[in-house]
Amino acid sequence: MTSLPLLSANRCNLLGSRVTLMGLGRHGGGLGAARFLTALGVRLTISDMASAESLDNSLTKLLEFPDIKLHLDGHDPADFATADVVVVNPAVRPDHPCLEVARAAGAQITSEIELFLERCPARVIGVSGTNGKSTTVTMLYEILGRAGRRAWLGGNIGGSLLGHLEEMTADDSVVLELSSFQLAHLSGEARLPEIAVLTNCSPNHLDWHEGISSYTAAKRRLLAANTVILNAHDPVVRSWRVPGNAARWVTTLDDQPRLRVPGEHNRQNAACAAAAARAAGVDELFIREALAEFRGLEHRIGWIGEVGGRHFYNDSKSTSPAATIAALDAMDRPTWLLLGGVSKGTTFDDAAAHVSRRARGVAVFGAAREDLARALNRGATLPIAIRESLAEAYSWCWSHSQSGDAILLSPACASFDQYADFTARGRHFCELVAATGGAERPCSVGTPLL
Ligand code: ADP
Repeated sequence: MTSLPLLSANRCNLLGSRVTLMGLGRHGGGLGAARFLTALGVRLTISDMASAESLDNSLTKLLEFPDIKLHLDGHDPADFATADVVVVNPAVRPDHPCLEVARAAGAQITSEIELFLERCPARVIGVSGTNGKSTTVTMLYEILGRAGRRAWLGGNIGGSLLGHLEEMTADDSVVLELSSFQLAHLSGEARLPEIAVLTNCSPNHLDWHEGISSYTAAKRRLLAANTVILNAHDPVVRSWRVPGNAARWVTTLDDQPRLRVPGEHNRQNAACAAAAARAAGVDELFIREALAEFRGLEHRIGWIGEVGGRHFYNDSKSTSPAATIAALDAMDRPTWLLLGGVSKGTTFDDAAAHVSRRARGVAVFGAAREDLARALNRGATLPIAIRESLAEAYSWCWSHSQSGDAILLSPACASFDQYADFTARGRHFCELVAATGGAERPCSVGTPLL
C-alpha cells in the first residue's frame, strides 16, 4: 500500500491514488464525485450494487471518462482491499463488509460531502432534522438571494456542488441540506458547517441506522458547529445542550410575515431559516420579504385543485409519521387521508391516535397497509379502508368524501414498494385527481394557500 493521501490538504495529494467510489447512485452525488475525482487525476473504480441498466442515466454522463473502471451488479471486496481512498455513497451503511475490508487494509473512508466541506472556500450553513430540511434550506437560500448574497444550494437537495468549487469565493454562502446518512458518514476530522440548523428530531430511517440513538447521534454531530440554531418547539431538540455559547434557540414564531405555506410546522421552518440568516448577518427586511414570497416546494402539502367540491393536497414527500401529523394539523376542513407505502422501520403507534383524532377517514395502501391499519384500529372509530394500490385507496376516499372535504396524500412511508420515488407517487396522485376532474390537469408547484 502506498502512503495515504491527506484529503484535508490540497487537491494534488490525490493525484495517482487508487480511489473506489462506492455507489454511483441516481441522484447526482456519485456522479459529481466521479467527475471531481477524475479531474484530480485519481485512478478511479466505481463499484455499485445496481445493474448498468438501472444506472443508465448516470452512466451515460460518464461516457466521456473512458479510464474509469466500472464494477457493477455487486461490490467486489478486491476493489476495497487495494484502494487508498473509498468515497462512500450516503445510502451505504457504515458497517458494510466491504468498508470493513477497506478499513482493515488502511484505506481512508470519505464521502462526497466531506470532500466538498474540506475544500469549500465559502461559509457553510448546514441544515438537518427529521422533517423540513428541504423547505428550510430553500427558504434560507431565497433569503440570501434576496439580500444580494452569492449563495449555493446543495447537499441532500439538488446535485453535487463539487463541480462548482472553482467558482466559489470566501464571500459566498453555501446552504447544505444534510441527511442523517450524510452526517453519519462524516469522519471525526471532518470540517463542520460554520452555522448549523436543527429543525426537529423524531424516529426515522431505523431500517438503516442501528437504532434511534445512532440516528440521533448523526443529527447531533452538528451541535459542534460554531453557531447552532435549535428549534425549541421540538421536544427532542429542546432537550439538547450545546457547549459554550454557540446555541441560538428558536422560540418565537410571532415575528414573521404571513406565510403562503400552511401550518405551524412551516412557521417553525421559517423561524429556523430566519435565525440562520440573522447569524449570517442578513438584514431583517430581506428575511421578511423572502419569507412572505416563499411559495413552497412541490409534493409538500401542495394544493393541487378542486373537483366536485373536494380539495386535493399532495404531500407525497411525507415519508415519516411526524410529517403526516404536521400535514393533518395544517388542514382546516374534514380530511380523508391516503396513507401507505413501505415503512422505514418506524412504528405508527404514536401517530395513530393523532390521525384518528384529526382525520375524517383513512385509506391505507402499499406494503405497510396491514401494519398501518392495525395501528389505526387500536381504539379508533373512524372509517378505515385497506387497499392494495394508491388508485384503489383514492377511489374509496373519493366515494366516501363530500363537497367541502379535503383529500390528502400524506403517506408517512417511503414509496419504493410501488414507485421509483416520492415524486412519481405524487405525480400519480395528481393524475388520479385530473382523471376525476375529466381534465388533464398538471401537478401544481406549491401554491398551497389553504
Ligand atoms: P425533508 O427535506 O426533511 O424531508 P421537506 O421540507 O422536504 O423536509 O418536507 C418533508 C415532509 O415533511 C413534507 O411532508 C412536509 O410537509 C413535512 N414537513 C416540513 N417541515 C416540517 C416540520 N418542521 N415538521 C414536521 N413536518 C414537516
